[in-house]
Amino acid sequence: MASKLFDLTGKVALVTGSSKGIGKAIAEEMARHGAQVVISSRKADVCQQVADDLNAELKGESGGAVAIPAHVGQREELERLVAETRERLGPVDSLVCNAAVNPYYGPMSELPDSALDKILGINIKSNHWLAQLVLPDMIERKDGTIMIVSSVGGLRGSRELGAYCISKAADVQLVRNLAVENGPHNIRVNAISPGLIRTDFARALWENPDILKRRTVGDPLQRIGEPEEVAGIAIYLASAAGSFTTGQNFVIDGGSTIA
Ligand code: NAP
Repeated sequence: MASKLFDLTGKVALVTGSSKGIGKAIAEEMARHGAQVVISSRKADVCQQVADDLNAELKGESGGAVAIPAHVGQREELERLVAETRERLGPVDSLVCNAAVNPYYGPMSELPDSALDKILGINIKSNHWLAQLVLPDMIERKDGTIMIVSSVGGLRGSRELGAYCISKAADVQLVRNLAVENGPHNIRVNAISPGLIRTDFARALWENPDILKRRTVGDPLQRIGEPEEVAGIAIYLASAAGSFTTGQNFVIDGGSTIA
């Protein structure tokens, strides 16, 4: 008999920012492991396409996908997202807070307040709101997992991505707070911190081969990561395999932070 350790059959997973990049890879892999997943981003048509492609691939096997677009920066949008998920699939078993923004590249000394507010709102406050919205059901059922996609940027100082890195460090503290507060209800909360991954978000760092080489040559694996290479840790954390794991920050970076 096949092992059930990483099986997500019967689980409902809500993944924000899952129309492309890392969120899409996580949502797809969760569905392939049996979960019913919500594909969500601001663009309804793109979300629907991702869900349709996934359902066509799975052909009615245990996993599946629905599209529910939402802007994570607005609380009412997130209330609607969680309510509609509940209506269509049932209460959320696994929440993956993945959507994030970085509208500013440059020194903290010139950071406009508008960019700071946007970064803190989308990258931290929306994750807090989403956790608030899914936790009552998880607490009632004494089971659930929450993951927040942080970044290796949250582990070190930065000359150009200061506010973004502050938001990513705060996400890891949010994870620890939520893990401590909700652990007695058997809810596990963890952070995933990718290094450089080939997505649109990081395009400026990998599109030019010289920049990419400079960026990765000192890393143990000496290469950029692919979105699919971040998905495995989410399967581990959402499944029985991760049932004793909480409050941690999993760094998936080809070794860049230890070299
Ligand atoms: P990506 O390919 O650009 O995807 C971002 C996703 O978030 C898209 O689905 C986008 O769709 C959605 N999104 C953006 N703003 C949104 C909003 N306000 N409301 C709802 N959805 C929104 O980026 P990625 O690289 O996969 O990034 C995913 C996560 O990984 C982020 O938390 C990022 O900080 C983190 N990360 C990435 C890297 C890297 O090298 N790529 C490294 C470390 C950490 P719409 O535009 O349709 O809304």
